[in-house]
Amino acid sequence: MSLVSVRNLRKSYGLGANSVEVLHGVDLDVAEGEFVALMGPSGSGKSTLLNLIAGLDKPSAGELTVADARIGEMSATELARWRGRHIGFVFQLYHLMPTLTAAQNVEVPLLLSGLDAARRRRQARIALEVVGLSHRIDHKPAQLSGGQQQRVAIARAIVTDAPLLVCDEPTGDLDRASADEVLDLLGAFNREHGKTIVMVTHDPAAAARATRQLHLDKGRAVDAPATH
Ligand code: ADP
Ligand code: MG
Repeated sequence: MSLVSVRNLRKSYGLGANSVEVLHGVDLDVAEGEFVALMGPSGSGKSTLLNLIAGLDKPSAGELTVADARIGEMSATELARWRGRHIGFVFQLYHLMPTLTAAQNVEVPLLLSGLDAARRRRQARIALEVVGLSHRIDHKPAQLSGGQQQRVAIARAIVTDAPLLVCDEPTGDLDRASADEVLDLLGAFNREHGKTIVMVTHDPAAAARATRQLHLDKGRAVDAPATH
């Protein structure tokens, strides 16, 4: 079954004469349980496509269904609530709130969930334990290494039990050892917890962890040619 279904998706930035189309009709299906690596040159629209899939931006045309919801057609409020339950996002530069502790950052997606503070705190602790950071729950981002900050971001992405993780160059700013820790975690979430993952990456070692590799070429997604 497709968890993500993209049909003839188009995205333009800018208005009128300044409008530039970045995605020219992307078709893409991601089945439940897949771990897809999305590659392609810088500026080819990878982040644009991920942001659309994650409901962080609106398509200009085409159809986009995630977990049976037509997310291009939802209102901003509906989308914010829905996104928290269905999608976890991991960014290259972590995007943690600097004034909040690790645990408070991980709690952010639960703020719209209706859970009380004690429950939120408990779920955040569990998520931080899963990523190996039980000993860092009260640290602020500036007191953590890049790899640790990315693991906090991963805890935040999984804390709601969302079935889909969308990762934009999650290892792009990390040294090899920290990158491998992050990839080990993502691989384990995919294999052991059935998370579906769509990950943009330039890192061949990261792409090798995926179950399928796609290229975004001229604003259209194509299956990567076999390398050997
Ligand atoms: P990639 O992630 O593959 O490097 P992006 O999706 O970030 O590519 O960008 C694709 C193209 O869209 C680039 O030419 C970029 O400059 C342009 N672009 C991205 N975001 C915006 C935006 N918010 N406004 C205008 N142009 C944008
Ligand atoms: Mg990008």
